[in-house]
Amino acid sequence: MPTKTYSGYVAIVGRPNVGKSTLINALVGEKISITTPKPQTTRHRILGVLTQGPRQAVLVDTPGLQQDTKRAIHRLMTRTVHQALADADVIVLVVEAGRLEKQDEFLIRLASESGMPLVLVVNKIDRVTPRERLLPYLQRLGEAGDFTAIVPVSAKSGENLPELARCILDAVPAGPRLFPEGMRTDRDQAFRVVEIIREKLMLRLHQEVPYGISVELEHMRPVGQGWLLHAVVWVERDAHKAIVVGRGGRVMKDVGGAARAELSRLLGGPVHLELWVKVRKHWADSERTLRQMGLDVT
Ligand code: GDP
Ligand code: MG
Repeated sequence: MPTKTYSGYVAIVGRPNVGKSTLINALVGEKISITTPKPQTTRHRILGVLTQGPRQAVLVDTPGLQQDTKRAIHRLMTRTVHQALADADVIVLVVEAGRLEKQDEFLIRLASESGMPLVLVVNKIDRVTPRERLLPYLQRLGEAGDFTAIVPVSAKSGENLPELARCILDAVPAGPRLFPEGMRTDRDQAFRVVEIIREKLMLRLHQEVPYGISVELEHMRPVGQGWLLHAVVWVERDAHKAIVVGRGGRVMKDVGGAARAELSRLLGGPVHLELWVKVRKHWADSERTLRQMGLDVT
């Protein structure tokens, strides 16, 4: 008789910047989702696959819930979060150690009402010393909702992640495997290339500009032992173009250098990367344009 298997979708939700993407990368053991100190870094639903023996958890990284729903890209991200919740078998709600904001409480209510297994992750415990300071906070959380488990972790240092993985895998219902054993993400290489470039841009730029940026891979082909890549960085305004290029092309040089180093590791060979900055006005306002640029519109 074949072994009984367990498999399910796990929605990772939480306010922007609590460390959802970092957590998925750490659990899966590979960089699947880009992370920066800026909110709104994650724009897509990204799947990370965690398999241990007969149990498999498909982790769905969600863009942060946005309060400002005026712009199309924010509406899109909010819709994606709600859909991730509706499609999930297990919810993992992430909060930041020591903090409980209105948006956290809103998400705790929303997730509790779903009646699904709900694991509360208290992330960034590496920032709290001494650890005993967490106790009253953990108690307060315990009273705020009905959780299958509350697991304090550090996605950054890896502390307590094996326990969290166990806890998530235990909550997954019986069912056939959804992805093959060795598979860790549903995203192809081209997608990951674009995301790595976007991460380096967001890390290098400040304030307003990053949210109006989108990267499009025009061309990718093997050359000798390595790769030739052409990508366009789309910005919304002429003024932004000047900032993104930088004086004497400084910003583009830094971004290109940082991206190239990481892309060489991802693709396994030297990378020749050419970046162009182009203006497409108000792209973030139109869902149709978003669709054309390959962003998820569900
Ligand atoms: P997301 O918006 O919830 O996906 O958050 P990210 O994963 O992009 O992380 C936001 C920021 O928090 C990044 O600068 C991460 O390096 C940082 N971060 C994530 N996890 C931890 C952690 O366990 N400890 C600390 N100190 N920082 C973390
Ligand atoms: Mg993220």
